[in-house]
Amino acid sequence: MDNSKRRAKLLLEAELAAIGERLQAEARVPSASLAGGDFLDLAQGLEQQELARLSASRLSERAKRLQIALSRVSDGEYGICAECGASIASARLGAIPDVTTCVACQERLERAAH
Ligand SMILES: [Zn+2]
Repeated sequence: MDNSKRRAKLLLEAELAAIGERLQAEARVPSASLAGGDFLDLAQGLEQQELARLSASRLSERAKRLQIALSRVSDGEYGICAECGASIASARLGAIPDVTTCVACQERLERAAH
């Protein structure tokens, strides 16, 4: 494994660990209590729960992408476009460590999605 891959692996693992911690913190958000609290408290509690749930699902999406990137590192496919097989610019990988496509393929995929 060359240095840039080793660095990418460390970066991905660090971000994955940070997300794991955040997910655990989100899971500790107290649930809205139906007993005692007035309506406003209840509404705020529900809103917080909703926000926590939303950000938790975003975080687990991100964790999934990081795990995919990590498995690509160990398969020796990291930095290679999953679509066309071209190597992904290192600046792009530096900016988005879990990216799996080159700029051209990303743009093509985004156009196709719209
Ligand atoms: Zn490509």
